[in-house]
Amino acid sequence: MQYPINAIFQTLQGEGVYVGVPSIFIRLQGCPVGCQWCDTKYTWNKLSHKEISWESIPLKISNNNSWGLADTTEILDTITNLGWTAKHVVITGGEPCLYDLRPLSIALQATGLTCQIETSGTHAILCSMETWVTVSPKIKKNKNHSLLHQALKRADEIKHPVGRQRDIDALVNCIKTITDEKKRIILLQPINHITSAIQLCIKTCIQKNWRLSIQTHKYINIP
Ligand code: SF4
Repeated sequence: MQYPINAIFQTLQGEGVYVGVPSIFIRLQGCPVGCQWCDTKYTWNKLSHKEISWESIPLKISNNNSWGLADTTEILDTITNLGWTAKHVVITGGEPCLYDLRPLSIALQATGLTCQIETSGTHAILCSMETWVTVSPKIKKNKNHSLLHQALKRADEIKHPVGRQRDIDALVNCIKTITDEKKRIILLQPINHITSAIQLCIKTCIQKNWRLSIQTHKYINIP
């Protein structure tokens, strides 16, 4: 199984439950979902003329739409050869669940790394049982890319981007559809650090005992 990879780098996880945890990010290329708030639009299209060698991907210094193919062994070898010390891997995108992530997540965990996926929940989630799944639900109805119940059920963490009250209302309705007993951590994440959205998230988190997620990497200027 080969994966189209836009970027691989070591940093700190900037948001969500794992905020502050040293992490290796694997950013996959390709996403048909089209979220308004997307801050990685350069990952949307997998253009054949933008393919570069896998060896060039860890050397990228700017965000752009070039990508390279790598299989699980090549990814693991790169992590080892670069001497990265983080023990947590975040597979993100793009929409990583366009791809079968079972081989990659199982291989990463076999080396002692923990694994997390960040997804919109619009595609079936295929990963190891132990992978931590963060769903930022794409709730807006879109006949091609709406939220899958399977993704919501698999979620360990539901991290919802919030601009206005209607985003919270939509999340509440969405959560009502889950009927199992699994404990999921729910976080509200203000879109673009807009003051009114931050205030709304703080108020709602306190009311509902949810958590606030701030994109800390944007404040401290790390990738
Ligand atoms: S799913 Fe992720 S990459 Fe795709 S449009 Fe939404 S935020 Fe952007």
